[in-house]
Amino acid sequence: MGHVFPRHTRQTLPVAVGGDGCYLIDHTGKRYLDGSGGAAVSCLGHSDADVVDAIKAQLDKIAFAHTGFMTSEPAETLADLLIEHAPGDLDRVYFVSGGSEATEAAIKLARQYFVEKGEIGRGRIIARKQSYHGNTIGALSAGGNEWRRAQFGPLLLDVSHIDPCYEYRLRRDDESPEDYGRRAANALEEELLRVGPDTVMAFMAEPVVGATAGAVPPAPGYFKRIREICDKYGVLLILDEVMCGMGRTGSLFACEQDGIAPDIACIAKGLGAGYQPIGAMLCTSEIYDTIAAGSGFFQHGHTYIGHPTATAAGLAVVRAMLDRGLIPRVVEQGDKLHRKLTDRFGQHPHVGDLRGRGLFRGIELVEDRASKAPFDPSRGVAGKIKKAAFEAGLICYPMSGTIDGRTGDHILLAPPFIIEDDQLDELVDKLDTAIAAVI
Ligand code: PLP
Repeated sequence: MGHVFPRHTRQTLPVAVGGDGCYLIDHTGKRYLDGSGGAAVSCLGHSDADVVDAIKAQLDKIAFAHTGFMTSEPAETLADLLIEHAPGDLDRVYFVSGGSEATEAAIKLARQYFVEKGEIGRGRIIARKQSYHGNTIGALSAGGNEWRRAQFGPLLLDVSHIDPCYEYRLRRDDESPEDYGRRAANALEEELLRVGPDTVMAFMAEPVVGATAGAVPPAPGYFKRIREICDKYGVLLILDEVMCGMGRTGSLFACEQDGIAPDIACIAKGLGAGYQPIGAMLCTSEIYDTIAAGSGFFQHGHTYIGHPTATAAGLAVVRAMLDRGLIPRVVEQGDKLHRKLTDRFGQHPHVGDLRGRGLFRGIELVEDRASKAPFDPSRGVAGKIKKAAFEAGLICYPMSGTIDGRTGDHILLAPPFIIEDDQLDELVDKLDTAIAAVI
């Protein structure tokens, strides 16, 4: 033991040795309620027999095939199922191994699309502050999370970052949510006009912002206006649903609730539910056909593209979500979780905002409720709460960093879709204990 590169070199963490529904079990036998599904991954919990059986059955047939066999039966069936339920004109699926690979592929696909069309000046991405699109260098360049980017500049892509849609901090008192949604979206048009629309290939955003801000949903009408602006200037809309997609917010694709569809969608995390590493990029037939009519192939690829075992797991996961009615359950249990959080923390002096959709919930912690002043980052409030919760037997996903990526503390909750009422109570009780131990 001791040769694995740890997440943090000064921490010794327990080793997970077992899983039982919504619980993880460490090497000492201690049980942890998985209140965040890892990083919003384990949507089916940790012992789903159907998914395990599907993986075993695929291993018995063929675990992996690559050169000469770039697709497989489970990949084809999973792609069909995803497209059957995908919004808008999404028509083709490109399987990868995780979220960063999906967003990287999306950026390259957007670039190649415009090159094939002869619009070679379109190389810029517009994204948002308070965003995370993955840790590989292209995805990191697109993201607007300063603390993750700080050590790696100069980054690669030509990217501008506009303000996020973040009602709690950016809506003016005299504005309705709808007016704010429109104003926040218009920032995209202003930026397009500033940099020159012909230089921009895509706008990239998470429909509901996850890790960088704690489950921030868009204001009403925000994405409708974003879609209009993208269409007006011929800019592709890339939606990063790596964290908020796959049922997590109460619809298979999060953007369905905003009444829009992207040109390119990225999914991962919940697609494999942690049983296998898998992600995917979906695009419209317009993009696919342009490339097909041009050079004929997407100039991209990874060794594990369309991996049979990973896609077999993804297929079993999506079938489980659809066949067991888990997505309506997300709405039901998500509403209950929100009510319980509001009952417990709604008047808490250090809870500024409770937000989210479905089983994707965020709590923003503040020094002062009235002024919304954040805690001094040197106090490390979010990290301490995570540690106290872990000690109490609860896994949650606290992060520091809001608009500027440096200040602000929030907790992200994303429990498995199978969570029961008494486990929701346990989650809230343990979180209360952890928060009370720190602030
Ligand atoms: N995009 C979003 C919105 C994410 O939350 C994440 C991971 O947290 C990623 C991309 C990167 O995914 P992965 O860690 O699987 O590479």
